[in-house]
Amino acid sequence: MSAETELTPVRPAPWNCPECGGPWIRNFVFQHKANACTLLDSEDRMQAADYLNGHNLSAGRYYRPASVAEVALYNVIASEPLTGDLVMTELIEAGAIRTRIVAGLNPDNYNL
Ligand SMILES: [Zn+2]
Repeated sequence: MSAETELTPVRPAPWNCPECGGPWIRNFVFQHKANACTLLDSEDRMQAADYLNGHNLSAGRYYRPASVAEVALYNVIASEPLTGDLVMTELIEAGAIRTRIVAGLNPDNYNL
């Protein structure tokens, strides 16, 4: 990200899952409570779908519509909630590290 790029305004940390209260870890990864969070279920299904779509096969950037869970987690972090349904997620695969940018927001770009 260049220095000229304006960061999306975010809410003050800490950020927690809106459903189970699990704390934010990095990027769009939260420590969800197993068997107690539908957002975790959605996140697991989306990651499996990304795998089946070959998004993990090589390092690179991939784009797809954002999942409902990604929009919900975006709205926990960003100070202006998303309202439209034309939200894109950019996947950046680099080795074992998976980074998602939802509607231009990468939470890792903020010094907390
Ligand atoms: Zn959760």
